[in-house]
Amino acid sequence: MTDTMDLIQMDLGPDYQEVRDGVRKVCADYPLEYWREKDEIAEYPQEFVDAMTEAGYLGALIPEEYGGAGLPIRAGSVILEEIHASGCSAAACHAQMYIMGTVLRHGSEAQKRKYLPGIANGDIRLQAFGVSEPTSGTDTTQLKTRAVRQGDHYVINGQKIWTSRAKQSDLMLLLARTTPLDEVAKRTDGLSTILVDMRTSVGNGMEIQGIPTMINHSTNSVFFDDLKVPVENLIGEEGKGFRYILDGMNAERVLVASESIGDGRWFTEKAVAYANEREVFGNPIGANQGVQFPIARHYASLKAAELMVRQAAAMFDAGQPCGAEANMAKMLASEAAWELADTCMQTYGGFAFAKEYDIERKWREARLYRTAPISTNLILAFVAQHVLGMPRSY
Ligand SMILES: Cc1cc2nc3c(=O)[nH]c(=O)nc-3n(C[C@H](O)[C@H](O)[C@H](O)COP(=O)(O)OP(=O)(O)OC[C@H]3O[C@@H](n4cnc5c(N)ncnc54)[C@H](O)[C@@H]3O)c2cc1C
Repeated sequence: MTDTMDLIQMDLGPDYQEVRDGVRKVCADYPLEYWREKDEIAEYPQEFVDAMTEAGYLGALIPEEYGGAGLPIRAGSVILEEIHASGCSAAACHAQMYIMGTVLRHGSEAQKRKYLPGIANGDIRLQAFGVSEPTSGTDTTQLKTRAVRQGDHYVINGQKIWTSRAKQSDLMLLLARTTPLDEVAKRTDGLSTILVDMRTSVGNGMEIQGIPTMINHSTNSVFFDDLKVPVENLIGEEGKGFRYILDGMNAERVLVASESIGDGRWFTEKAVAYANEREVFGNPIGANQGVQFPIARHYASLKAAELMVRQAAAMFDAGQPCGAEANMAKMLASEAAWELADTCMQTYGGFAFAKEYDIERKWREARLYRTAPISTNLILAFVAQHVLGMPRSY
């Protein structure tokens, strides 16, 4: 750093090198062949998830008083980044890290004591998040799933789609409408967050149907037909659920963005190594500017995205509003990772298409984060309206 740079302070938060080393060590037991095989047979990577659980990484964000490691989101971010930079995928288990945030921030003390220690040690899997529906799309306030109170139960009817890991979860955090849309003052009112116990619900008013997808991602449609759930499973106040999930979504965006940063590192490493080693026309292909410039350009974008991810994490950890930063971090990181994925495909030439190199698989996987958990357009609409003050475009 130069003298003039010394005048500038930008606290990026800790980097958790020991956590990175620990995660790398676990990931070393799950090489690319493991993921390739899981992808071929579309099987959930249970062994990897078990190893991550046992090492305590999935309970990292749960406070120590409830049995977790009590680490800030920056540490969670580092864990997920390193998993992806190692060539592994956290998509099968990342939600165990952050869905519990809704219980932690808005649940009663009794609910926290009942669920969080089990989530921290892996006895309870809370990694299904039931928000998306087939007809309402991103327009969450229009969701149709209804929870109607009858005595000490809610009776739930409706359908969710893209509920990932529903078959590998003991609990689902469900967002359902408890007050009809035409009876609320604001569209965002009247939605509630309810914990659904999958262990007793499947076959008793809940059916889960897997959705075959272009990546190995255990995602599902979930059908509710007069499912009874005790009122005590309501998280926070009835009708305030939309607000509760929004602050959970900021955590989700920071963490998913970190996975994209890890993906970007992996693609960069692969592309550079191949560009240096592959020789045609008597030279390494990396000697051509047409090969090296795209890698360098998108690497620069990745490093810029990483700064935004760190800023969003620092603001989240400081308890500051960080909707804009978390959204921008997620958008920039997923776009940079995607550009690096595509550049890596191009660098590998025809070999990128051979499954044994893993490039095409990782390319497919990296694409998801431009669409989920929120698509790029919706982030741009958020920034245009809420950050820049332009009219709502939809
Ligand atoms: C593999 C996978 C796993 C998922 N896991 C989960 C999960 O666990 N839980 C869960 O609840 N959901 C999950 N999702 C759903 C995911 O969050 C949504 O698919 C995503 O938010 C996009 O919503 P949609 O598919 O309904 O698209 P739509 O809302 O139908 O949008 C389609 C396209 O139109 C664009 N668009 C829509 N409205 C506008 C507008 N006003 N202005 C500009 N462009 C617009 C969008 O950007 C998008 O590109 C998952 C999805 C996938 C693919």
